[in-house]
This record gives sequence, structure tokens and C-alpha cells, in this order.
Amino acid sequence: MTAETPILYESPAEHIVRIVLNRPDSRNAQDTGLLYALNAAFDRAAQDDGVKVIILAANGPHFSSGHDLREGGSIAEQMAPFDVVGTWCGFGCAGAEGRMAREKEIYLGLSERWRNIPKPTIAQVQGKCISGGLMLAWPCDLIIASHDALFSDNTVGMGVGGVEYFGHPWELGPRKAKELLFTADWLTAQEARSLGMVNHVVPADELAEFTLDLAKRIATKPLFALKLAKEAVNAAEDAQGRASAMNTAFALHQLAHSHNMQVHGMAVDPSGLQVRRKSEA
Ligand code: ZN
Repeated sequence: MTAETPILYESPAEHIVRIVLNRPDSRNAQDTGLLYALNAAFDRAAQDDGVKVIILAANGPHFSSGHDLREGGSIAEQMAPFDVVGTWCGFGCAGAEGRMAREKEIYLGLSERWRNIPKPTIAQVQGKCISGGLMLAWPCDLIIASHDALFSDNTVGMGVGGVEYFGHPWELGPRKAKELLFTADWLTAQEARSLGMVNHVVPADELAEFTLDLAKRIATKPLFALKLAKEAVNAAEDAQGRASAMNTAFALHQLAHSHNMQVHGMAVDPSGLQVRRKSEA
């Protein structure tokens, strides 16, 4: 079940869809297949006029351990089975060109795409949410975390200055964003709530019910007004330069990959990989 179905699509109540990450054995690590399946599920919920609220949940003890760094094959081979949803191209190109194309499509591109779905989205987070995991939770409009939820971006140790969807300053404020990046320390659910990144912290055994109840309350409202409210808040962030700053961070991220390729022969600093594997355990 887990290997064939990385994403589950559930209808737990009228007007509500729950999309579930379903690779618990690998702590919901994101390979290319999972990300495209998730995108297809978001598209399905967005295009279904009967759906008003979308919940993003995860099976297993952890929300997501981030990108699946064990995915094999060349970039062209990783991308070949899937229909590209953005406009970028050149996945088979050598050097930085192919890597930038892939990361612009499946990391920055998909996360930005989900952020702009014109319906309320709620991330339901338990356990660890590491690096690429943030790129699934942050694009959602609301985040509900269980008491045991822990957030971290450990990419600086791997020679990269932060994940591809660089939401840190917007989610945490500049100082805490820098501390999170510089130290890779865990941010607890309670700290994340105090910083405004998380809406509510609830006991683990109440997480699903609390999130569904919130979704039901939102679903009683007119969908067009919900869309307009979301669009207005997103526009406020964009008027402050969010998208432009994220694009700059993405370019710096690509610089880091190219640097690591030149110095270490791989896209990340190998000394950081050990640290990452320990934090996932
Ligand atoms: Zn990257």
C-alpha cells in the first residue's frame, strides 16, 4: 500500500478533502513521485467545485523528513515519468542548468503553486517536519501542530543556505529565521505558535479531530469570500516583496549546489549528510 500509493485522497466531511502523505516507512520523505502525486491531489481538490477546504495530513509518527536524498538516477531520469506543470525546461541539460530546472519545477514551483490554490488549506503536523517538510506545511494557509511537533531546517550543515521555498523570514521573523538556519535547532510546536508560524497546538490524539472541526467551521462560509480573503492576505505578503525575496534566495540556493558540485563533487556538503540522517532517526 505505501509503495504504490504515496498520497491518499479522503473526503472526511462534506466540502472537505484530506490529502494524506503516505510514505510512513520513510518518514514521508519526498521523492519526485510523491510530489507529483501530491500536486495532482491538490489540483483535484482545487478543481472540484464541491470542495471548500483542503487538509494536508501525514500518516505515521512524522509529518515529513524532507526531500528523499536517496532517490537514484539522473535528473532527466527522475523527471521523465512525470508531466511538468511549470514552464521551466531543460531537465536533461548538464551542470547547473538541469538541476535548477528540476528544483524550480518540483520544489519552489510546486510549493508556490500550492500556496496560491484559491481555497483554504490547513496543514496538520505531527512529529518531525524537517527542511523539505517545511515546504509542504508553509504553503498552507493554517498550520495545526500536535504537542510533539518539531520543525527544523538543517540545510546549512549540508552547505546550502536554506530550503528552496525560502519562507523563513516570513514565517518566523528575521531573527528567529537566522537562528533556525544557523543552528538547525528544533523549533517546538509551542515556540512556532508563539512566533505566529503555527495557529494551534493540540494533543496528538486530538490533532485530526481538531483540524477537521476547524475545517468544518471554515466550510460553512461562502467559498468566494474565502478565496478573496486568502487572495488579499497573500497579496499583502507579496506587496512586501515575498516572492521577489524568495526568488533571490532560490538563486543563492542554486549557487550553493554549484559550489558544492565544484568542491565536493556532489550537490550538498557530504559532512552534513551524516548530521541529517541522525536528526531523521
Ligand atoms: Zn536544492
